[in-house]
Amino acid sequence: MPCIHTKIGILTIVGDYKPGDPRPSGYSDFVEWATVQEKAGLRPARCGQCSLWRYPQEMSGRVVVSHPTDSYGNTVEVRSPVCRECDAREKRSET
Ligand SMILES: [Zn+2]
Repeated sequence: MPCIHTKIGILTIVGDYKPGDPRPSGYSDFVEWATVQEKAGLRPARCGQCSLWRYPQEMSGRVVVSHPTDSYGNTVEVRSPVCRECDAREKRSET
C-alpha cells in the first residue's frame, strides 16, 4: 500500500480487505487484513510443516499425519493442515 511522506511523518494507507483475501505484504496491511479475517470468523490453524499460523485461504488442502506419543506412552494420530508455501516448496523439491 502507498506511503505518503508529510511534514509530520509518514502516512500509510492500508487497503480495503475482504474476508478470504490473500495475505498482503507489509506489517500495517497485515494487521488490517488479519483484523478483517478475525471479524469474519476465520481462524488461523498451525501448519504441520513450518508451524506458522495460517488462515484457511492460505492452506493448500493437503494434510500431514504424524504419530507422536502422549504423556502416557500411547501413540496418537495428529492431522495437521499444510500451508500453500510449504506445499509449493515440497513440490519444487520433488521435481
Ligand atoms: Zn507451512
